[in-house]
Amino acid sequence: MTIHPHRQVIIIGSGPAGLTAAVYVARASLTPLVIEGEPSSSSDQPGGQLMLTTEVENFPGFPEGVQGPELMQRMRDQAARFGAEFLTEKATKIDFSARPHRVWVRDDEYSADVVIVSTGARSLMLGLPNETSLIGHGVSTCATCDGFFFRGQEIVVVGGGDSAIEEATFLTKFASKVTIIHRRDKFRASKIMQERALANPKIVVRWNAQVTGLIGESKLSAIEVTDTVSGATETLQVGGLFVAIGHRPNTDLFADVLTRDETGYLVTEPGSTRTNIPGVFACGDVQDHTYRQAITAAGSGCMAAIDAERWLERQHATPAK
Ligand code: NAP
Repeated sequence: MTIHPHRQVIIIGSGPAGLTAAVYVARASLTPLVIEGEPSSSSDQPGGQLMLTTEVENFPGFPEGVQGPELMQRMRDQAARFGAEFLTEKATKIDFSARPHRVWVRDDEYSADVVIVSTGARSLMLGLPNETSLIGHGVSTCATCDGFFFRGQEIVVVGGGDSAIEEATFLTKFASKVTIIHRRDKFRASKIMQERALANPKIVVRWNAQVTGLIGESKLSAIEVTDTVSGATETLQVGGLFVAIGHRPNTDLFADVLTRDETGYLVTEPGSTRTNIPGVFACGDVQDHTYRQAITAAGSGCMAAIDAERWLERQHATPAK
């Protein structure tokens, strides 16, 4: 076991929120340690969800678009340029019960006055074999991000909750037809959103059906659909599949320590990134189930860095607090 020298700021997570926080904190000469995660699986790696994206066309400053992984590498380089340090591992334990706050990576102990939590959220997936490799190549979890790429095409949305209905409705701006595939004969979504979707002439619903196969090597070309009642399967030619079956914030590490809402997202004070523990701030998708965009995550990472700096200044002015 190694106890590492105390530092002012630790950032856990390295998506747009964590890396933007790192840029700001590092530029304030606070030399943050970014515990950036490790590439433990294809859907779980440093850089967050944008590492699974191809073209990003809506991040301001890139008029020609930018590849998701390149955008994250640039943010990482920018933070490193100002002195942010990186640990390519996962935080495995935390103790925020006393100051300084402590974070472990396996047996190694790190401590800091401030911890910024930016561990993100993950989209729930269907669990099909080639699903992850087809993300950005016909399979998407974000209509706002990728709908534009499917102009004039037929699209399938999977799910029966508010997300699926909202995504399907949004996608009608681009698609010639949107088929919602839902595993039951009733939506879970709110009535008003259902009614709006069902009244949309571009939306059709395929009830009692599951997507059970994705066809395509480097790009999705068709899906296999299985009827949950009869068990019959068929192949649908479709170039775009939006999986909208929910999200899960990465907050297990903070259970019973940081206040979470009923769906597991960290709760921050409105208009700030403060959590229930002084000196612990949360930013990005781990505390946002509404917007979930790279730019909003980056914006809240900036907020966390400024909140952290001000909090540190106040501690130095009144050390007893
Ligand atoms: P959700 O409410 O949990 O719905 C998930 C849907 O996906 C359910 O219909 C579920 O089917 C289906 N599903 C789950 N696993 C599946 C699988 N393996 N294969 C096929 N289908 C699967 O999630 P959500 O829609 O993301 O909504 C999350 C929360 O955010 C909700 O509280 C929602 O109201 C809220 N939200 C609100 C808005 C809005 O008001 N504008 C927009 C988006 C989300 P079953 O129904 O059979 O379980």
